[in-house]
This record gives sequence, structure tokens and C-alpha cells, in this order.
Amino acid sequence: MAERPYIVGNWKMFGTRAMLSEARAIDRAAQRYMKVEVAVAPPYTLIHAVHREAEQIGVGAQDCHPGAEGPHTGDINAAMVADAGAKFVIVGHSERRQDHGETNELINAKIDSAIEAGLRVILCCGESLETRDAGDAEAFVLGQIKSALGSFEDPAERLTIAYEPIWAIGTGRTATSADIEAMHKAIRGLLDETYGAEASADVRILYGGSVKPENAKEILSLPEVGGALVGGASLSAESFLGIVVAA
Ligand code: PGA
Repeated sequence: MAERPYIVGNWKMFGTRAMLSEARAIDRAAQRYMKVEVAVAPPYTLIHAVHREAEQIGVGAQDCHPGAEGPHTGDINAAMVADAGAKFVIVGHSERRQDHGETNELINAKIDSAIEAGLRVILCCGESLETRDAGDAEAFVLGQIKSALGSFEDPAERLTIAYEPIWAIGTGRTATSADIEAMHKAIRGLLDETYGAEASADVRILYGGSVKPENAKEILSLPEVGGALVGGASLSAESFLGIVVAA
């Protein structure tokens, strides 16, 4: 298993330049917790500014267009976010799948373009409550990962998976430890099968969905949980750092 836990803040559509003070506070504190890899994904508009503030934390984007430069009004591609200072990109978040109809095929194209631009990728997956209640969560999530990764090669140091059950995002509900553990083991099994155990071992599997300082320790101590993707609780340095400390 990759050793350092990876704690990533996903700011979603929150934050103006006023948030830079939070980024500074996170960066300063992260220098005291070198055993944890800390990163934030601010909105596009703040990537460059956060990158300039950050000495210790990684900076990433929340999405990218899969194409090269071109006439796509309002879109931003992987090379552009890399140029702004991003080192990674989140793809396939359930809010993008829901709000923008993103398919696994499109997500696969985004992954290819991100790798081409030299970025690391955090691939999100997760089932709805209906799928879980129907007993299909595992098959659904593994299916998402398989088709989004396609023929992706060389996962070491490039790929992170984030398991985020949709019903746990922003709801205050978290999956039970048993559910998280079972899903993470199933994902690990798929990665082992696809890339071989040695290469798979470098791929961290994050949990996301209402992670906060109060529940972080328990979640992060589960087998195969290599860190957390944090939404709401990443918007203040105090709560985000509470999670970093728990890791
Ligand atoms: P949440 O969001 O921590 O607010 O539940 C997690 C995410 O969507 O990445």
C-alpha cells in the first residue's frame, strides 16, 4: 500500500479570492504533518493563485475538457489546468455525472487527456441509494471504474480512486465502516486483477462522503482506505486540518 494517506479538499463551486487565506493556513499547517499528503482542488479561477501560495500542498482541478485547444466556449482542458499550476485533476465526480450527463466513455477520454498533460488523476465512483438498496452497489462501482479506465496503463503514481457513495455526499450520512471496507476491498481486487498486485499497491483508494474531523479517524483507519476526498469540511482550514490531523 502507498504509505502516506492522501487528504484532498474538493472546494466544488465555492470560493473567491477571500478563500486564499484558508489555503495559506492549510499550507502552513501541512508543513507540520509531512506524513500526510495534503491537496486541494479549488475552482478553476483560483488554481493559479492557490498554486502560488502553496509550498507544501498539492493543487488540482475539479474537472477538465478531454480535447485539445479549440472552439469550445467556456471549457478548459487538461493542458490549461496544468499550465495554471494543477498537478492533478478530479474526474467523474457524481455531481458532474448528474449535472452534465457525463458518461464513463467521456470520463475515459478525460483521463487520457489528463495523463497526456502530465497530470495525476483522481477517478470518482459511487452508487446511488437505489442501486445500493437493490444490492448492486459493488457491481455498479466496479463497472464504472472498468469502463472509465479503459486501457489505462501504468497506474503507479498517476491514479487515485475515490469511492463516494452518492447518498453520502453532502448529506451528513456516511456509509458504515463495513460497507466502506467491503467496497474498498472489491476495488482493490479489481486493481490487482487489472494491473497486478505490485502496481496496484501504489494506487490509493480514497473514501468521500461527509468526511469530517469527528468521523475521519475511524474511516481512515479502515483497511484499504488510503485517504479522503473532502467536500464541505474542506472549506474551512480548521475543519479540513482536523481531518489531516486524524490521518
Ligand atoms: P462532502 O463531499 O464531503 O461534502 O460530502 C465529498 C465530495 O463530493 O467529494
